[in-house]
Amino acid sequence: MESRIIKFYETTLRDGEQTPGVNYFPEEKLAIAQELAAMGFDTLDCGFPVSSPGEFEAVRMIAAQIENAEICAIARAHPADIACAWDAVKIANHSAIQPFISVSPLHRQVKLGKTREEVLEMARSAVALARTLTENVDFALEDSTRTEHDFILEVCEALLKEGVRFVTLCDTVGVALPWEFGQLVADVKREFPRIRISAHCHDDLGLAVANALEGLRNGAERVDTCINGLGERAGNAATEDVVMAIRTRSADMGLDVCIDTTKLVPTSRLVAKLSGMEPQWTKSVVGRNAFAHGGGIHQDGVLKDARTYEIMTPESVGLTAAHRRMHVGKLSGRAALVAQMRELGYELEKEQVNRSFEMAKLLLGKKRELEEMDLRYIAKCVTTKTVV
Ligand code: MN
Repeated sequence: MESRIIKFYETTLRDGEQTPGVNYFPEEKLAIAQELAAMGFDTLDCGFPVSSPGEFEAVRMIAAQIENAEICAIARAHPADIACAWDAVKIANHSAIQPFISVSPLHRQVKLGKTREEVLEMARSAVALARTLTENVDFALEDSTRTEHDFILEVCEALLKEGVRFVTLCDTVGVALPWEFGQLVADVKREFPRIRISAHCHDDLGLAVANALEGLRNGAERVDTCINGLGERAGNAATEDVVMAIRTRSADMGLDVCIDTTKLVPTSRLVAKLSGMEPQWTKSVVGRNAFAHGGGIHQDGVLKDARTYEIMTPESVGLTAAHRRMHVGKLSGRAALVAQMRELGYELEKEQVNRSFEMAKLLLGKKRELEEMDLRYIAKCVTTKTVV
């Protein structure tokens, strides 16, 4: 089966910057944009130009310098926002704008104070206006997953008539279950087979990646993601997770990505440094434990053949085999200890291994993890006549 290549709307520089506590300087945004463009992401959502002069300048600087990715900016469904967003991105080789509006009953009533009809008209006229500036107009339906189904369809129909390119269905609050989000995409695609859908999913229930994948499986062409899963509250679907889930299970999903996966970890580290937000140690793909093994049974397996406990290689995400870590701890086994000792230059005989192991376990009753100096001390004890 021929795999369908999915597109990315990479929003590390926009939704990712809405992470409370994150604030990039313009040159930092540019540095991240360069990495993302080099990896092959189709569209970079670079910011919300009308929000501040600094943001406008940052987006314009990226638009002026990035050649091999589409540069997009967002705008509320207001004429002034749309004009400002277009001003910021129009010098790019490839540019796009994405106006948005909230469509759910709760947001219409509480946030906007508008009726269904008024919201529909604002969305329609935003796309109509934006289309006078560029053909590359996407439109995002904020809080789609808490919106009446028939209203979503009504808005989609109006936007298609105005020449919208992508319609972004948003699980803005991260409340959808995977089969619900998949069903939403499927229903819209069934009604409007020629519509192109982007899936924007938040991670409040830890389901952002699962929801995004269900969206893609049900016909969405594009997915919105952030490096390290940054974004509002619990963040967005993590770029590295979506990329590696599809790459690793491509044959089973009938989907693939056109992304240089060997830049995933370096880009994750850059974003971690500039955002000041380190991914948790057990974070999939890019966490510092993603290729670390703690249990003795696991370590023994990995030392014999890494495929026993790893479904992707460190090399495939930009690390080396040397980054594969055998943690020497309370639960680890002889194989990891021997491997670590070998790395430090000690070839131990069987009896020495046994004594080392005993010493290691004794020490681990006192401290959580053995460091290099502990291992060297143990090696020294077992390779000399010292009685312990
Ligand atoms: Mn969002």
